[in-house]
Amino acid sequence: MNFCKNCGAQNDPGVKFCQKCGSPMVPTAPVAPAAPVSGYATTPYTPAPTELPGKGLGIAGMVLGIIAVVLFCLWYISIPCGIAGIILSCVASGKAKEVGMSNGMAKAGVVCSAIALGIAVTYIFLGVVVGISLL
Ligand SMILES: [Zn+2]
Repeated sequence: MNFCKNCGAQNDPGVKFCQKCGSPMVPTAPVAPAAPVSGYATTPYTPAPTELPGKGLGIAGMVLGIIAVVLFCLWYISIPCGIAGIILSCVASGKAKEVGMSNGMAKAGVVCSAIALGIAVTYIFLGVVVGISLL
């Protein structure tokens, strides 16, 4: 629709002057986007590093931790996997911290490995010390 800016009358599209009051019709220009706030406009966008340092180690640590949890009853597999999982995850977490990043998989690896070691040690404790055979 083509409304007069002066009197608000509705005019036919394309008329140069208002058909009611005669004031010049301003073509409806698209609304210009608001000017960006200077603070935001001048702030350079700093992309995060694409590759997380120690990512592979974090994955390895998490996988070892999961294996250790799953195979808790095979303590001779679970305990070495859990220890290796904690070491790899800690190394991976440290590498990520060096660049101010967080390696979630490494943290999961530490938690999984620690849980696995706890379960395996408890399992051995029950089997050997208490004498309950779980095998
Ligand atoms: Zn008018």
